[in-house]
Amino acid sequence: MTIQWFPGHMTRARRQIEAKLKLIDLVIELIDARLPLSSRNPMIDDILQGKPRMIILNKADLADPVVSQQWIAYFKEQGHVAFPVDATTGTGLKEIPIQAKLLLKEKIDRQISKGMNPRPIRALIVGIPNVGKSTLINRMAGRNIAATGDRPGVTKAQQWIKTGEIELLDTPGILWPKFEDQNVGYRLAVTGAIKEEILNVEDIAFFATKYFIQYYWDAMAERFELTERPEDTENPDDVVSVMEAIGRKRGCIVSGGRVDLEKASKIILRELRAGKLGRFSLEAPY
Ligand code: GDP
Repeated sequence: MTIQWFPGHMTRARRQIEAKLKLIDLVIELIDARLPLSSRNPMIDDILQGKPRMIILNKADLADPVVSQQWIAYFKEQGHVAFPVDATTGTGLKEIPIQAKLLLKEKIDRQISKGMNPRPIRALIVGIPNVGKSTLINRMAGRNIAATGDRPGVTKAQQWIKTGEIELLDTPGILWPKFEDQNVGYRLAVTGAIKEEILNVEDIAFFATKYFIQYYWDAMAERFELTERPEDTENPDDVVSVMEAIGRKRGCIVSGGRVDLEKASKIILRELRAGKLGRFSLEAPY
């Protein structure tokens, strides 16, 4: 799902989250482990107004594990609780209630010291579209609840979903990514979070190919049986020559023997997203 974000959408999305903050103890901020900064909302700290929060690097199964560990260290240095998760299989989900109780320890201890039974922790999941919010809600609930494709602006009665020690709001908070930086757009597009109608498919594949030549050449060379690594990735022709070599390997030839670059681009992106080139991260903190 892609939302075309306009200022009105952003304001509405923000107001919806602000209204929900009043109902909850804790925010679960979901980001994509492959691009933790690019998949974050630029105003997140401001929007959350100091609510206790944990940062979950979702889709960790697709990300480069070494880089993910660097990101975890990076967020911890900033004083955040952060850990990797794979919402589709449920790997890492056990950490959520453990960390939630640690984050809210003072509050829980206070309830206990007053002789009260600690009430369930109430949480809201927030994140940009396609980051895995609905998948996580369904996984935590153990059943299908969240309709993928919620849109900001559509209001309905809030429901609490019981998931062990945590009660989740059934509708996640939808945030928008950064738009100012073009590279952010390309990183999101490489993962499929931004649809190809918005950015040109050949440009997205160019961005991805350049990145793979720089950081994951062996995986790319192996997948597409490439032999020559271009020396200068800053030279666009060198990057395009790799895309063409991939196109030739896959029979993307048009009349006159030219490579159909659009077709080659689609193959590159499809296989990369399907994990055929292995796990990868598109940005690193250091
Ligand atoms: P939402 O828009 O934030 O609610 O995102 P969805 O829950 O609809 O997920 C978007 C896509 O990402 C779906 O195709 C999910 O199957 C996929 N997805 C979500 N979480 C994970 C994960 O941890 N690993 C992988 N590999 N895919 C995931």
